[in-house]
Amino acid sequence: MTTQHEFDVIVVGCGIAGMSAAVSAEQAGARVAVLERSVAEERGGNTRYTESLWRMKSEDEVSDDFEDKLGANGVLHPDPELIKDAVLDYDNWPGLLKAAGMADPNLVAALADNAPKVLKWLKSFGVKFDEIPTYFLSQSTTRIAPVGGGLALIEALGAHADASDNITFFYETTANELLRNDRGEVIGIGAREAGNRPVNFIGRGVVLGCGGFEGNQEMLAHYIGPQSAYTRPVARGGYYNRGEGVRMALDIGAAPCGNFGSFHAQPVDPRSEDWEPVVLNYALGILVNENGERFTDEAPAMTDAVYEVISRRIMMEPHGLAWSIHDATLDDVDNWPVTVRSRIAPVEADTLDELAAKLDIIPEVLAETVDSYNNACPHPDGFDPLKTDGLATSGIKPRKSNWARTIERGPFRAWPIVAANCFTFGGLKVNAHSRVVNTAGDEIPGLYAAGETVGLYYDVYPGATSVLRGAVTGRLAGLDAAGLGN
Ligand SMILES: Cc1cc2nc3c(=O)[nH]c(=O)nc-3n(C[C@H](O)[C@H](O)[C@H](O)COP(=O)(O)OP(=O)(O)OC[C@H]3O[C@@H](n4cnc5c(N)ncnc54)[C@H](O)[C@@H]3O)c2cc1C
Repeated sequence: MTTQHEFDVIVVGCGIAGMSAAVSAEQAGARVAVLERSVAEERGGNTRYTESLWRMKSEDEVSDDFEDKLGANGVLHPDPELIKDAVLDYDNWPGLLKAAGMADPNLVAALADNAPKVLKWLKSFGVKFDEIPTYFLSQSTTRIAPVGGGLALIEALGAHADASDNITFFYETTANELLRNDRGEVIGIGAREAGNRPVNFIGRGVVLGCGGFEGNQEMLAHYIGPQSAYTRPVARGGYYNRGEGVRMALDIGAAPCGNFGSFHAQPVDPRSEDWEPVVLNYALGILVNENGERFTDEAPAMTDAVYEVISRRIMMEPHGLAWSIHDATLDDVDNWPVTVRSRIAPVEADTLDELAAKLDIIPEVLAETVDSYNNACPHPDGFDPLKTDGLATSGIKPRKSNWARTIERGPFRAWPIVAANCFTFGGLKVNAHSRVVNTAGDEIPGLYAAGETVGLYYDVYPGATSVLRGAVTGRLAGLDAAGLGN
């Protein structure tokens, strides 16, 4: 017989989204069950591994570009005929618009409005926020972070939850099915405990805070394509996110949102066993594929704004691999080592031919690539790695738009790069209360989504908005599910 537990609110996952939902619901008086696939020691999913930058200019305000960036990247080519009704009150929107494949501008506004409030709420558990050094030489926006990163958030909320009589964690428990009554209301979750034993959780609200599908190669191949086989989660936490939250809600008619064919990519050294071993110095050199050919503009804008797009291009190259190639002039750039978090030494050689041989690239091809690049480089006067300096190549494709300096003087160095998957973009459509809407635009009673399980991004991920999304949507969902929504 299937074991059954009854609570008020059932939360799936305990990263920032799930923890925020669980603690918010508990503070609002609910009895909460938290289902988590991992063992207790590894709880926290992706959140456990992130530095958790928040796109804010202070604790009181999101960055100046916050809503513009989220809005612009929350849709691809919007249909003017469809979005013309977005000026109406949400209640008067046609269902087609409520369920449309684009980020709901009301949700974007709710994220901006609630971020400072939720940040203050997190501080009430002892978390401190500050500006922290990043792996960028300089940035195109403002970012702050909790001291101690995502782990500090998990530990602070987790300590409160562990001490509460009204929050119960069920570890090694994987949710896989939404339970509904005959009115179509979600009334619980079907799950599997360790040993594949079925277990049901009944409650009046279910919050899906169980990440995207970055840990599920089948869904990645299905939605993103065969080259995704060359990617891997950027940290151990991502392997736990296998997409059940997205899939079980789609199965009962939830509207999809976010670009299912894309993901937040980071350029990492595939040899490294560290998490997030980024290699971002390529903007100061060139990128070549395993054939020794350039394939992309390495520096179309500030690195923090474009590394994701470049990482996804790397994924599309043969075997999803590229080399970041440099000569001795890399060392002219103060502080360049902050841009490389891999602790594995680069491949090094005194001559370019020797380097090519070590990289298993035909030396003549690499020499030709570097020669034509060098011939297209301008005079290096005005080189400035801290801003887009406009030192661009001329007459070659692909062009390099900034920081184009010749590669001539040994020793030469090369770092391998593959695209790591930080999180997937495809998720569920929620409104500004984190309530999941169905494909007709109606709310699915009793069902909430938070964090990565919410689809929000279509084009380029506006960096430093995912933990913030998780905290805000988690808190909104938890309060609403407990009956204190606004
Ligand atoms: C190394 C790294 C650096 C990053 N840097 C930043 C940054 O600086 N700023 C930023 O905003 N974002 C950053 N991100 C992304 C961000 O950390 C995540 O997108 C965010 O923390 C996700 O929170 P979440 O709660 O939605 O998911 P997670 O934190 O991944 O939590 C999901 C939880 O659900 C559990 N789960 C999954 N499926 C099930 C199931 N079926 N049943 C039960 N449990 C399940 C998982 O085990 C996991 O514990 C980074 C991510 C990584 C890995």
